[in-house]
Amino acid sequence: MKFISTRGQAPTLGFSQAMLQGLASDGGLYVPEKLPQFRLEDFDGIESLPQIAEKLLRPFLQGDPLESQLSEICQSAFNFPIPLKYLKNHTAVLELFHGPTCAFKDVGARFLAECLSRTKNPSEMLTILVATSGDTGGAVAGAFYEKPGIEVMILFPKGKISSRQEKQLTAWGKNIHAFSVRGDFDDCQRMVKEAFQSPEWKRKKKLTSANSISVGRILPQMVYYAASSLWYFRKTGKKPGFIIPSGNIGNSMGALWTQAMGLPIRNIVLSLNANRSVSDFLASGEWKPQATIATLANAMDVGNPSNMERLRFLFPNIETLQAKLRAFSVNDSQIKATIQQGPERWGEVWCPHTATAVFVREKLSDEPDWILVATAHPAKFETIVEPLIGTPLSVPPSLEKLLKQPSHATEIDNTLASL
Ligand SMILES: *Cc1c(COP(=O)(O)O)cnc(C)c1O
Repeated sequence: MKFISTRGQAPTLGFSQAMLQGLASDGGLYVPEKLPQFRLEDFDGIESLPQIAEKLLRPFLQGDPLESQLSEICQSAFNFPIPLKYLKNHTAVLELFHGPTCAFKDVGARFLAECLSRTKNPSEMLTILVATSGDTGGAVAGAFYEKPGIEVMILFPKGKISSRQEKQLTAWGKNIHAFSVRGDFDDCQRMVKEAFQSPEWKRKKKLTSANSISVGRILPQMVYYAASSLWYFRKTGKKPGFIIPSGNIGNSMGALWTQAMGLPIRNIVLSLNANRSVSDFLASGEWKPQATIATLANAMDVGNPSNMERLRFLFPNIETLQAKLRAFSVNDSQIKATIQQGPERWGEVWCPHTATAVFVREKLSDEPDWILVATAHPAKFETIVEPLIGTPLSVPPSLEKLLKQPSHATEIDNTLASL
């Protein structure tokens, strides 16, 4: 399988090279040249996540140096549970938060780490440089921790992330280096960009990125959509729709590709926070990136989603896209009310991101068969959630373990020179 740039002016690459490259040389994003087609029977007798992963991803790695290791990669990357929990009212919830850092980004980061550590030149140190405003940095740190020949540099804005999010960046040590930058998230992103363009850095380090433009993160995000749609269909005989809390729309691209490959997915709905550039686009047909607004669902605070380019490449015709995809914006007071009512209405405690999907589910009350995508554990956002539900949340063991570790972070100025 070949991967092509959404802008059509960059070299066509195999999976490993497209993953190492990150952004295509023409500024576009790598996408599969053609999506393979599956029939339901292809998955007969296949039930577990690693098995479904291997079946689904094999065509994408065909002819790639990693092809022969796909089975091991899937076993290692999908080694934590992703349960589909059936609630009342023809609704289920897909819990993507049982990984090491309690958010769905663990899936993509772990798959990427398994692939990168197998493709890299063994005699060379590979440096992953990443700016984070929330969950990405923690997932990347956890996934690359103690991987030989790889170091991770994480930049985060000092004092601007929650204390538990900060702990997930700084508690690792060893090959994970956290930098607390005196500045904001935009400063961190600028410093990363400058490093990638700096001839001096190029001489000294072999840099690669781990953000959501990487195909190495999107491909594994298809696996849980394939698996849960099959599980739901086998149990109920109905094709489920998915409601997906979205920001950079990397997670939802995984769902849209999976649907296009023939898996039993009825439709896909995005739930956004107050950052509504995607819902405005679907309503007006005109693409206008917007300035980012800070909300309670901070991992979705994106005004100019980087995967928009992949979405428009998949559906170049705006009417087709409008027929295929719906998006709803949910504001902070709606998020709060949904969290507050969660225990009584659903018997569940929602994180602020997942709450956007639940709000949309309640709004679409006359349509049955929905899978709500739960993107993070509520205990990561205890300062928001606990006052709303009025009870303390128990902390999952993986998070508990990190919270007990000492922090390692170096405070620096917001310049590349100080990094
Ligand atoms: C990153 C993140 C999102 C948004 O995912 P995208 O792929 O950027 O759309 C939603 N919820 C949580 C908890 C996240 O960490």
